[in-house]
Amino acid sequence: MDYRDTPEEAEFRATLREWLSATIPAGWDKIEDELEAVRLRKDWHRTLYRAGYVGMSWPVEYGGRGLSPVYDAILNEESGNLGAPPLPSVGYIGRAIFMYASEEQKRRFLPPLLSGEASWCQGFSEPEAGSDLASLRTAARLDGDHYVVNGQKMWTSGGQYADWCLLLARTDPDVPKHKGISAFLVSMTEPGVTVRPIVIASGEAETAEVFWDDVRIPVEQRLGAPGEGWRIAMTTVAYERGPADIGFIANYRRTLRKVEGLAAERGLLEKEEVRKALARAYVRGEVLRLNCMEQLSMRVSGRAPGPEGSIAKLLWADAEQSLQHLAMDILGADEMTGVAAGWLSSYFTSRPVSVYGGSAQIQKNIIARMLDMPR
Ligand SMILES: Cc1cc2nc3c(=O)[nH]c(=O)nc-3n(C[C@H](O)[C@H](O)[C@H](O)COP(=O)(O)OP(=O)(O)OC[C@H]3O[C@@H](n4cnc5c(N)ncnc54)[C@H](O)[C@@H]3O)c2cc1C
Repeated sequence: MDYRDTPEEAEFRATLREWLSATIPAGWDKIEDELEAVRLRKDWHRTLYRAGYVGMSWPVEYGGRGLSPVYDAILNEESGNLGAPPLPSVGYIGRAIFMYASEEQKRRFLPPLLSGEASWCQGFSEPEAGSDLASLRTAARLDGDHYVVNGQKMWTSGGQYADWCLLLARTDPDVPKHKGISAFLVSMTEPGVTVRPIVIASGEAETAEVFWDDVRIPVEQRLGAPGEGWRIAMTTVAYERGPADIGFIANYRRTLRKVEGLAAERGLLEKEEVRKALARAYVRGEVLRLNCMEQLSMRVSGRAPGPEGSIAKLLWADAEQSLQHLAMDILGADEMTGVAAGWLSSYFTSRPVSVYGGSAQIQKNIIARMLDMPR
């Protein structure tokens, strides 16, 4: 693939840049109140959608524009360059719905997901089923034209703000564990759904425990066939692991520029070890970018993401955590005294990157299997 813009892409990039410069809400990254930050993200999602920038590579009949995924990548890049708020993560749950839903489900669920009218969370992990997801115990029992769900989910990110959940539950306890799981599209406002936010080390209630007590789900809200839940989950995480899908590169570049600025303000660019550490951070970002470009070229040629997403996930966690660590080294005590507010929280936010979407060890196991290494 030739990574340079075609004339049409260059024109799109120029128009987008102009639009972003005029539209990015001033001071959005200074907002400290969590609810206000969530509101801003939702508003940004809708603003992007109205301007035609969400789901550009999705089919027109479900609210997209039918363009090449290259346009999503340009949006990612320019959002980072111009310091825009985070892009909405419609990709991974949306793709799972797109690939496994009935025509009726697609028409019902995809347009509001893309437009930002409905937000989603992912109810996979449980207290005893994280890495070993196939052991999940939340059960969905068929009762006439409904399933009745009972169980507990853990680490459901954004569960307290989401309208809908892509839920995994066991529908058949008598078959091998990977085969007895089904997926459901469930409203978070159903009676019997209780959400308890979890405040993580960054101080933010980024994720939640969700309790499901006799929650009734209409049969027509099962996604895919009974027992197809494992395949649906693997599709979802394959898209979740590609940093290109979630705008990571853009955020990384923006943060690297800020860290360089911190070093410059403190006169630390004179120090060889600081310059080397910044150069290493830049190289990590470039390695990740090239990996994303490779994945993008596979996507453009029609290949869905597969286990190679594990390589991207490892590179992503390493780049993000090393960069935040470098920021800590540069800031020293300023971090603790509040002179450089926000950095400690960003550092803590970077720690679970090597856990969610499948831990680093699990990604290494997947890569080892891909390479046919002995177990
Ligand atoms: C901030 C955050 C947000 C999250 N968001 C979501 C979400 O939105 N939806 C959702 O469903 N889940 C979410 N998760 C859950 C996440 O996917 C799990 O935490 C992750 O899969 C690990 O599972 P666990 O926490 O149960 O750890 P465990 O599976 O108990 O693992 C503990 C340790 O053992 C290692 N380990 C386990 N098995 C193996 C093995 N076979 N080989 C080598 N090492 C192994 C792991 O790598 C890890 O270091 C989130 C987690 C966090 C922290």
